Order: sequence, then structure tokens, then C-alpha cells
Amino acid sequence: MKAIVIGGGLGGVAAAVALRKVGWDVDVLERAPEFGEVGAGIGVMANALRAVDALGIGAEVRRLGTPRVPGGVRTPNGRWLAKLAEVGQEELVAIHRADLHRALLAPLPASCLHTSTEVTSLSSLDADLIVAADGIRSFVRAELFPDVPGPVYAGATAWRGIAPGPFDGLEVSQTLGAGMEAGVLPLGDGRVYWYGSVVAAPNADLDVRELFGSWHDPLPRLIADTPPETVLRHDIHWLATPLPSYVSGNVALLGDSAHAMTPYMGQGACMALEDAVVLAAAMAPGDVTAGLQRYDQERRPRTQAIARASRSIGRLGFELRNPAVIALRDLVFRLTPPRVAVRGMTRFSDWRAPSL
Ligand SMILES: Cc1cc2nc3c(=O)[nH]c(=O)nc-3n(C[C@H](O)[C@H](O)[C@H](O)COP(=O)(O)OP(=O)(O)OC[C@H]3O[C@@H](n4cnc5c(N)ncnc54)[C@H](O)[C@@H]3O)c2cc1C
Repeated sequence: MKAIVIGGGLGGVAAAVALRKVGWDVDVLERAPEFGEVGAGIGVMANALRAVDALGIGAEVRRLGTPRVPGGVRTPNGRWLAKLAEVGQEELVAIHRADLHRALLAPLPASCLHTSTEVTSLSSLDADLIVAADGIRSFVRAELFPDVPGPVYAGATAWRGIAPGPFDGLEVSQTLGAGMEAGVLPLGDGRVYWYGSVVAAPNADLDVRELFGSWHDPLPRLIADTPPETVLRHDIHWLATPLPSYVSGNVALLGDSAHAMTPYMGQGACMALEDAVVLAAAMAPGDVTAGLQRYDQERRPRTQAIARASRSIGRLGFELRNPAVIALRDLVFRLTPPRVAVRGMTRFSDWRAPSL
């Protein structure tokens, strides 16, 4: 059985690894001249760790990333609102996206990886299964579901950077301000991934150093340590109108192509990894039509619920700007037992991977 995967991001290469594990012959078509990932970090949540375990690269991901470190939720002046250490939270591995991508590419033979290959029409492809992992601006989604509106602006813009450091002894943290949030994830090797999001008009002229300059240590230090030309800036878009199906004919949509979501739960790429494992498990028996139905039934409710929850967490969290409401938000955080306070972030992490 032969599959073609359109797009070699985290979702596409994960799908290729997973499908090969269940005996499929796979070609990955990537339009960029090289396979790679952007200079940012990612938290591989407990659920996605089970996905990378199923893909056979869990040990490598844990080796490359930082395993559980203490941390929690803070205010801009550094006060802790909730400490995760008190929760006994599940495993989370913080890793550079390029390292994760390399770990996913490693099991794939060079002969199945094709760069500088942009797919512009589905009719040009001949395979038993086509996996559309072509990202948030998916042409496949637009071709198959022309009546579903595309991604919309979520009302905020985000910066991401890798501070080369080396930095020692930093904790994982998320800091909630007024219409702003920032996060710190120490990577395994002294580098630190940081991000900042701000409620703003699209393409707003803003300076991340100024915006977070007076926030608690280490945020200003991390931003200052990061070469400005390496800082990523993205206005955040998401698929607010959920798709009626993730499959059509012999095509499966996967990752952002199926369910581009806001990043506030840190689950976008984690969902693409889960998608890959579930798709391959459904394809193992070789009945493409039945397998695709199973994939759609398993993945659509879960991913669309997470996309909705992520959007709500933004609205009820960092997007608040009224000082009285923020004081109430912070009070609720402080009075809520830590286990409940972080439940919003972790309530989807009990997913179990099918074995491949
Ligand atoms: C600011 C921000 C922070 C985020 N933080 C997190 C986080 O902490 N945790 C998390 O899990 N997720 C996070 N995400 C989400 C995550 O980045 C995405 O969900 C994930 O990268 C999607 O992977 P993908 O493989 O589906 O798509 P992509 O990574 O977009 O890959 C698509 C690939 O397809 C290729 N392609 C596109 N069209 C074609 C074509 N026609 N022919 C051939 N190739 C094509 C592209 O070149 C690209 O390589 C964040 C996103 C943003 C914007």
C-alpha cells in the first residue's frame, strides 16, 4: 500500500514514520528546499509523549529535551499563583522544535523524502492514501471543503525565541498579565525557549523587548540574550469553523491542516503527533475507507474540543484587560488548589496511544 504525505512539518514526518511502522510505503513531499523546523521550542505534553513512544522515538525525545522541572503560573512581578510541583504533574518534555523534527526524520530513509516539491493539485497524485499535512494554510482543505471558512485572526500576536544562554536553574513558567502572557521553558542543554503573546490588531507595530522589559526575571534577560533576527513573530490564527470531516475519498487531513488551533494549551503540534499514530493504527488492516472513517471518528471530537478549550483559555486568561477582573482572576488562581488550577492545561493529557 502506498501513501503520499503532503508537507514535511512535525505532523507530516510523524505520519510517515507511523505509516511505515504498519507496513506502508510512504513518500513525503515538502515544498521547502530542506526539511526542518523553526527556531522555537515546544512542550511535548504527556499525551504527545505517548505518541512519540508509539512512534519509537520516545527515548530520543526524552534524551534531547528537558524532563519535568519545577515551575508554575506567575504574575508579571514574579509572584507565583500556582506551583506545579505541588500537583505532581505529569511528564512534560521541553525540546527545540528542530531537535524533535530531526528525531522524527531519523527513522525515515532518504529515498522517501522529497524536498522542493510543492503539490498544487490532488489530481496529480497517485496513491492508495493521501495525507494532507500541509499546515494552517492547507490548499487541500480549501480544495476539499471550499464552503468552510479558512483560519481567522484570534486577536493576538506572539513572539517566540531561543535564548542561547547557557542558563542554569530556571523553572518552567507561564506568566499572566493584562492582555499579555509570557512563558519560559528551559531546554535540555542550557538554552531556554521563551514566548510572549499580546492582544493586538493584526500586524501591530510592537517591540517585544519593551512590552516585557519590566516583567519578572528571567524574561527580560532571555529576550535580551536572543539575537533579534532569530525571534519569530506570528499573528495567531485558528480554524474557528470546525471541519465537518477530516477525510474525503482517500485523503486524510492531519495536524494544522485539519484543526489549526490557538497555542494557549500548547497542544497544536502535540495533536498532529497523536493524529499520526491514530491514522496509522486505523490503516494497519489495509482497508482505507474503513480506516479513514475510524480516523475521523477518533480524531475530530477530541481535536475540536481542544481547539475550543484553547480559545477559551485565552479569553479567560491572558486576554483579560480590566484590572478588577484580572485581580479576580489572580485571586481565583491563588485560592484554587494547584491541582484544579492546572487542570485546564492538563485535562486532555490522559490520552492513550494505540500500539503500532
Ligand atoms: C506562536 C505559536 C506557538 C505554538 N506553540 C506550540 C506549543 O507549545 N506546542 C504545540 O504542540 N504546538 C504549538 N504550536 C502549534 C504548532 O506549531 C502547529 O500545530 C504544528 O507545527 C503543526 O504542524 P503541521 O505539520 O500540521 O504543520 P506545519 O508545521 O505548518 O507543516 C506544514 C508543512 O507543509 C509544507 N507545505 C505546505 N503546503 C505544501 C504544499 N502545497 N506542497 C508541499 N508541502 C507543503 C510546509 O512547507 C510545511 O513544512 C504553536 C503555534 C504558534 C503559531
